[in-house]
Amino acid sequence: MVYETNNETVDDALERVLAGERLDRTDGLALLAQPVEPLAEAGAAVRDRFGDGTVDACSIVNAKAGNCAEDCGFCAQSVHFDTGIDTYDFLGPEKVLEAAKRAERDGAQRFGIVVAEKGVSKENRPEEWEEVLESVRLVRDECDLEVDASLGILTEEEAAILAAEGINHYNHNIETSPNYFPEVVGSHSFADRVKTLETAKAAGMDLCAGVILGMGESPTDRVDAAIALQDIGISSLPVNVLNPVAGTPMAERGGNITTEEIVKTVAVYKLLHPESRVRLTGGREVNLDPDEQHLPLEAGADGLLTGDYLTTEGQSPGEDLEIVERAGLEPNRETNEFDPEEVKARYGDSAESSTETTANTGAEPSDD
Ligand code: SF4
Repeated sequence: MVYETNNETVDDALERVLAGERLDRTDGLALLAQPVEPLAEAGAAVRDRFGDGTVDACSIVNAKAGNCAEDCGFCAQSVHFDTGIDTYDFLGPEKVLEAAKRAERDGAQRFGIVVAEKGVSKENRPEEWEEVLESVRLVRDECDLEVDASLGILTEEEAAILAAEGINHYNHNIETSPNYFPEVVGSHSFADRVKTLETAKAAGMDLCAGVILGMGESPTDRVDAAIALQDIGISSLPVNVLNPVAGTPMAERGGNITTEEIVKTVAVYKLLHPESRVRLTGGREVNLDPDEQHLPLEAGADGLLTGDYLTTEGQSPGEDLEIVERAGLEPNRETNEFDPEEVKARYGDSAESSTETTANTGAEPSDD
């Protein structure tokens, strides 16, 4: 199939991506300056060529909430900011399993166990570490789900144990570009984040690492973040959009990104990461109108974080399935069997969806 968008810059880049070439920073910057329509067409063309035509859904559980010693400026769970969220210690294996079963019923293929910590520590909190491992085993044994984890900074030993326990993807977002990162986080560095990703990868886990858009970063920062992720080597690229949390520094700077910028960024990310799932995650519901939610999927996105986020309620899985269909795409059914019509019917009443959610209420856009 020949793809043409009638935009010379986009067509040239698209042709090179389809021929297997990796685009660079110069390409990314030139692309992001192009109009949204040809970019969206190109993003979709890349997805059609490199993907399997499906939208993959993952779901997460906030297994330990709040009181994190770090100071990430967007995060409701930092102890440095007065955000009024519910805080709790590690939920324990049974409650994690409960959340996983709900995710499985809702059509998720992947389930991520997330804790609010700089890093789960085998040495400093051995009981909690064992509970995390027990949770991983329980979900792996009792659900048809790929088990992922987002446990913060890892040592080599911890990474090796998690890989041996069957963790498929390790999530650790880089949040933004290397240059802008210090404007967002003061208590650890961009290099710290990269080091953990490299440690997880060296242990054999695939990487899920992405960004939060709309934190006051420039378009150049958006491209630079994607280039940094090229160097790291990821297979899932979550794109959060800031959902400003009252009490956090980023609440002052939020809301600076338009729908067009979100769609263009998603398309450029797909061109820069043709073989990774570009995954729409936190904040899409508050930054995009209901009739705009399918647009990033039409621009090359091929993954969703469905259900609730860490401290914010997301859309119901039924609503997400409708958005996937509106974009003319199919949900991924590879890992477990589920019936999309049953899920949509179950979540037909939005009041029901909110009573089925877990305790992850509050307002925060990103996983750890
Ligand atoms: S993003 Fe993660 S490390 Fe940063 S404050 Fe929130 S929970 Fe802590």
